[in-house]
Amino acid sequence: MAEKSKRNPNWSRDELILALDFYVKNRGKSFEDTSEEVQRLAREVNAVGRALGLTGTDTFRNAVGASMKLQNFRSRDPDVDAKGLSRGNRLEQVLMDEFITDPARLASVADAIRAVVKLGEMPMVSMAADEVDAQEGRVLTRLHTYRERDRAIVKRKKDSFRKRHGTLFCEVCNFDFSSKYGERGANFIECHHTKPVSELIPGEKTKLADLALLCANCHRMVHAARPWWSVEELRTSLVSD
Ligand SMILES: [Zn+2]
Ligand SMILES: [Zn+2]
Repeated sequence: MAEKSKRNPNWSRDELILALDFYVKNRGKSFEDTSEEVQRLAREVNAVGRALGLTGTDTFRNAVGASMKLQNFRSRDPDVDAKGLSRGNRLEQVLMDEFITDPARLASVADAIRAVVKLGEMPMVSMAADEVDAQEGRVLTRLHTYRERDRAIVKRKKDSFRKRHGTLFCEVCNFDFSSKYGERGANFIECHHTKPVSELIPGEKTKLADLALLCANCHRMVHAARPWWSVEELRTSLVSD
């Protein structure tokens, strides 16, 4: 029993994204745990892990662990001749598949994660149990959720929408809370931040044009599986009755 609590937790998406970004930028290197760069990567990953509330033993996210993850990625790199079996876990393969063809996006996601953690601005927002973190990891998922719940900007968005359309309704399914629930639903609607999570910039101001009004159901559907759907994708997937 005591043994189990002494183990380090599995690497999160966010931590692996930093390692994969490092891997892609340093493919030719040998990733010794004594290398200055690998040690810097380990410190960054360590900071991200701790910001996510992860803890472990005194070997938590050290250079030996970082070196191992980099070797795992190499064993799964489709552009490297495989010498032997793929190493590591399934999530490492998933991330390799998701990001390997788009190193620019990978780099911008990794930069954004690092920036949020560095600013110490990790928003602690609660999410519903059935909402799935974005492909880009939990740090940016929280930033997304935090932005779309910003009371001041939500109020401005609703005001401008009402001015234009006379009422509030879901931009996907047209549901209008006031027509269903009367007075109680009069001001009720959710805001969804439509900017791709990989393009979120820490500290940046949200623009009204980046927000869409969605009913609670449609908003949950956007966030219900990876990859998250765009508002367009959800609209075209609606089953007409
Ligand atoms: Zn809707
Ligand atoms: Zn959203």
